[in-house]
Amino acid sequence: MKYYSLTNNQNTATFSEAVIQGLAPDRGLYFPEKTARLSDDFLANLATKSATEIGFEVMKPFVGGSIPDDRLQQIVADTLCFDFPLVKLDDNISTLELFHGPTMAFKDVGGRFMARCIGYFNEQSPKKVTVLVATSGDTGGAVASGFLGIEGTEVIILYPKGKVSTIQELQLTTNGNNIKAIEVDGVFDDCQEMVKSAFLDTELNSAYNLTSANSINVARWLPQSFYFFFAYQQLLRQGFEGKLAFSVPSGNFGNICAGIVANRLGLPVDHFIASTNVNDTVPRYLQTQQYNPNPSKQTISNAMDVGNPSNFIRIQSLFNNDFDTLKKHFSSYAFDDSATREALTALHKTYDYVADPHGAVGYLGLQKYMKKHPEAQGVFLETAHPIKFRNVVEETLGVTLDIPEQIQHVLGKKQEKTALKDYAAFKEYLLAQAT
Ligand SMILES: *Cc1c(COP(=O)(O)O)cnc(C)c1O
Repeated sequence: MKYYSLTNNQNTATFSEAVIQGLAPDRGLYFPEKTARLSDDFLANLATKSATEIGFEVMKPFVGGSIPDDRLQQIVADTLCFDFPLVKLDDNISTLELFHGPTMAFKDVGGRFMARCIGYFNEQSPKKVTVLVATSGDTGGAVASGFLGIEGTEVIILYPKGKVSTIQELQLTTNGNNIKAIEVDGVFDDCQEMVKSAFLDTELNSAYNLTSANSINVARWLPQSFYFFFAYQQLLRQGFEGKLAFSVPSGNFGNICAGIVANRLGLPVDHFIASTNVNDTVPRYLQTQQYNPNPSKQTISNAMDVGNPSNFIRIQSLFNNDFDTLKKHFSSYAFDDSATREALTALHKTYDYVADPHGAVGYLGLQKYMKKHPEAQGVFLETAHPIKFRNVVEETLGVTLDIPEQIQHVLGKKQEKTALKDYAAFKEYLLAQAT
């Protein structure tokens, strides 16, 4: 399997090159040359497959021989070390809980898979890989936990001082080992700028083998397609037949894009709904056919505060850049914080279900779609455990949440972080470490 750059399709890479580079040298996103239907036998027998069997079959063509089968199997098994339960709320609405991993956000799967792939590539040609990651909260924790202790790798996380939750900061700063946390005196955009500047800095690039770990990296993006198979499999076991709609709380649109990939691989999905907060670039695009990104706005579903979603270009490619086909299979709706709080309350009152603000946005999008399509079977993805957004959830619902084991584990651990204020200081820090 080859990957080509969406900036210039003459620029191609193998899976291992695409993973190690992150972004193509022309700054374009890598895209697989084929998303072919999986075998009829596999699709017909989905209900009986294990999670690891599904993950292996889905990733094998994308990995395209860069990793031997037995090793890929092991990487998938290590990645999927927790459950993905589908919780039925009523006859035609369920939620797929993606938060049972080590950092309790759905990004754990991509983080773990990518780390293990890089660990394998490093065994083949030892050259330490340094992962730079700017985070507004969840990404950094999942990437850190995924790479913790993986030989030949090091992760440097940049996060904005005072702008991540207490639990998130603990998840970023208490890992030790090959994980380093940098607290930047600024906002998320400053962190992201510092990472971008580092990638373009020739001096740093000769001292380091740098890569990025956000959802532009194919090894973080593609494994997210597993979720949609896991949901479908559980519906099949409940005797489901009919039309399936997924609502995905979306920020950078990597997760929903992986769902569309699952559909291309043969998963029968009738409709995709990208549910957003007031960062509504894509919902506006679907109404006007004008793509006009706005600066990001802060909301209570802050992992989706993205003004210009990087992965939307991949979604357009999956629909051959045809607006009408896209609109037929894909909807996108935006909701503000007060609607999100009302949805948290409604889920709690109606179904006795405690969601997080991102899942609540997903529920709102599904509800809106199902008003016009009451015959559909709807699944919304629950992308984070409510404890990660404890203040909003407790205050909105008037409840006290139990603290799960994964979070207990970081409370009271010693924090280690380096405070830096600008790119010059960051570069000096990196060069000092390199010698
Ligand atoms: C990252 C994240 C999202 C958005 O996912 P994208 O793939 O960027 O669209 C939604 N919910 C939570 C909790 C997240 O951490």
